Order: sequence, then structure tokens, then C-alpha cells
Amino acid sequence: MSESTKELRELNTAVAEKVLHLAACDSWRSINFGRGGGAAMINENCEHNGQCFPAKTGPAHYSESIEAAMQVVEKMRGCGIWTQIQTFTHTTQVRVEMGVPSSECQEWGATMEEAICKCALKAVTKFELLVDKAAALAALEQKS
Ligand SMILES: [Zn+2]
Repeated sequence: MSESTKELRELNTAVAEKVLHLAACDSWRSINFGRGGGAAMINENCEHNGQCFPAKTGPAHYSESIEAAMQVVEKMRGCGIWTQIQTFTHTTQVRVEMGVPSSECQEWGATMEEAICKCALKAVTKFELLVDKAAALAALEQKS
């Protein structure tokens, strides 16, 4: 595993634990569905109620897959945090901004997925005390 892949995997785990509040769990085991089915990880009888990922293989690749990264964006939205993704002509780096009505933060990444993950980690720390208020406001706006 290259150094950059290792860094992305560490980023995935940090996002799973701190942003999505999933726990690393040992109850997952690998099964093989055989012809046409392939291998999969299943989890029976742990105390996390679906809120965990296999400790051995790690969580979804949030910083590498756009589908997984969008789960992070959706989670932020649910907390009342908006996300803006920007690309530029002078650099291949991608900038992601996240914010609540009274504050915002930004991060850069080699890819959109990486920038989303880095920004989400910054945002959950920075907006910790603001998100409840923002989520309440967002819910009110949806109703009207
Ligand atoms: Zn579990």
C-alpha cells in the first residue's frame, strides 16, 4: 500500500468515526456467495445496530469513491451544514467549503472526494456547538 493510499485509508476511518459516528467492530465476517455472488462482509449480532464497520477491512472509501463521499455530504446536510465544491483553471486541486448560517470552513484536496472528507472533519469540530441550531433552522425552512 503506497503512502498516499495509507493516508486516504486513515482519512476514511477518521470520517467514519468522527463524522458518521460509526464504530470499528470485530463482529463482521467475510462470506462467499459462490458462483455469481462473490465475497461480502456480513455482520450478525453486534451491539451497534448497524452503526459500525469491519475493523479488519475498514470503512467505505469515503475519500476515494464519489458515491461514498456523497454519503458524507448528505450527513452534513442532515446536520444543517451546506457543502460547496469548487474547481479552478489554474490548479487541479479541488476546494470544498462547508458552512452553517453563522460560520464556514474550507479544505483543499487532490480530488473532490479527499477535499470533502478533510473539510467534513474540520467542520464537525468547528461547528460542534452550531449544528443543532442550524439543523433546527433547516427543518423550519423545509416546513414553510
Ligand atoms: Zn458492530
